Amino acid sequence: MPGLSARAALHWSPLSALDPLTDEQREIRELVRALARERVAPRAAEIDRTAEFPWDVVALFRENDVFGVLYDEEYGGVGASALMTLVVIEELSKVCATSGLIVAVQELGSLGIKLEGTNEQKRRFLPRLASGEWLAAYALTEPGSGSDSAAMRTTARRDRDEYILDGGKRFITNAGVASLYVVFAKTDPAAGHAGISSFVVEADTPGFEIGRIEPKMGIKGSTTGEIFFDGCRVPAANLLGGEGEGFRIAMRILDRSRPGIAAQGLGLAQGATDYALDYARSRETMGKPIAEHQLIAGMLADMETSCEDARGLLDEGDTGPELTKLSAMVKLYCTDVAMAVTTDAVQILGGYGYISEFPVERMMRDAKITQIYEGTNQIQRIVIAREMLKESRASLLAGIG
Ligand SMILES: Cc1cc2nc3c(=O)[nH]c(=O)nc-3n(C[C@H](O)[C@H](O)[C@H](O)COP(=O)(O)OP(=O)(O)OC[C@H]3O[C@@H](n4cnc5c(N)ncnc54)[C@H](O)[C@@H]3O)c2cc1C
Repeated sequence: MPGLSARAALHWSPLSALDPLTDEQREIRELVRALARERVAPRAAEIDRTAEFPWDVVALFRENDVFGVLYDEEYGGVGASALMTLVVIEELSKVCATSGLIVAVQELGSLGIKLEGTNEQKRRFLPRLASGEWLAAYALTEPGSGSDSAAMRTTARRDRDEYILDGGKRFITNAGVASLYVVFAKTDPAAGHAGISSFVVEADTPGFEIGRIEPKMGIKGSTTGEIFFDGCRVPAANLLGGEGEGFRIAMRILDRSRPGIAAQGLGLAQGATDYALDYARSRETMGKPIAEHQLIAGMLADMETSCEDARGLLDEGDTGPELTKLSAMVKLYCTDVAMAVTTDAVQILGGYGYISEFPVERMMRDAKITQIYEGTNQIQRIVIAREMLKESRASLLAGIG
């Protein structure tokens, strides 16, 4: 970040996510925007082409305290608000969704410790995550359990002051590059949801192995892979919350992390809109820039409006009792906008939109995953409808009372 790190620029008290951006927060946004434009954007096409994890981008984030934005000062962070995490993810994703995801998954993998960790666990793990020395991962999905996460088969058996983990996870972001994995496993396989517990597993624990890393459509620089546990002994001190609380914790984490994926989607949508606008101003057909053809102008106007609409919803996305419903709505809306808008950007560029030399084809491929991970958009709709039914039942009961 030219001249100033996130730590240096963040001299304000923690704010509610509902507050508008302060001057200092706007300054941070400008700093991350400059970092994204000058240092990350020039790497984005190559990261996509080589499909190699961008350790140089991680180093850049470490140097500029970007990871620190996610953590409180007492754990080595800069004490920013949840809103600033979203701003950082959006700004990075405008130019490189893989780089935005590095920050989003650092948050996803840290939230279990931030929300449910004991003071000892927070002191033990968070400082190394705040500096970026360690990357984190969140391991819920298994080959037979994605949307139906309670059907997981990985087990954890207590043995004195340890748990022994056996089984495996699939599609884990940061597999092989993370030093810390928050893992969900069944401590009581007969008890369904209530039999799941969550653990912090360090990557160098004996019995922990990395399996296949998947080739994929987009976010190619991000690793997505299998992890295995074969008699993997984890200290009982690494249990998050109590035994049987894992499913509640997994869902609580997703309530907080889904806005991060929404921010990734919004970044992709805005990045594609900005690129398509620039292109449409300079590309001429029938004697004038295509931006002056009404059909193209209308598409650009719709794309920009969708982005603004999504941003408005995202800025509301961190409120108390309605968090589950709002974060599902934000994730659903922003990522559907990402898919639609990046597809339109490809259309505006015509044949050039379809070839790899222009970034909108990568953005369209990257956008697809935002509708799938951290709960597919079908699952978000189910969550929203379920919360609506709960609310209407509660108001009905209040009426009767
Ligand atoms: C690149 C990538 C990164 C990922 N990163 C992580 C990670 O870091 N950690 C992690 O734990 N997981 C991760 N995942 C897993 C991801 O969250 C799951 O793939 C996703 O939740 C869907 O699960 P599934 O693939 O098993 O699909 P399924 O659950 O088999 O769903 C298949 C289809 O059926 C639909 N469907 C399922 N159930 C219902 C229902 N009840 N009603 C209506 N429709 C339904 C789904 O929406 C989907 O369209 C990642 C996946 C990918 C591809």
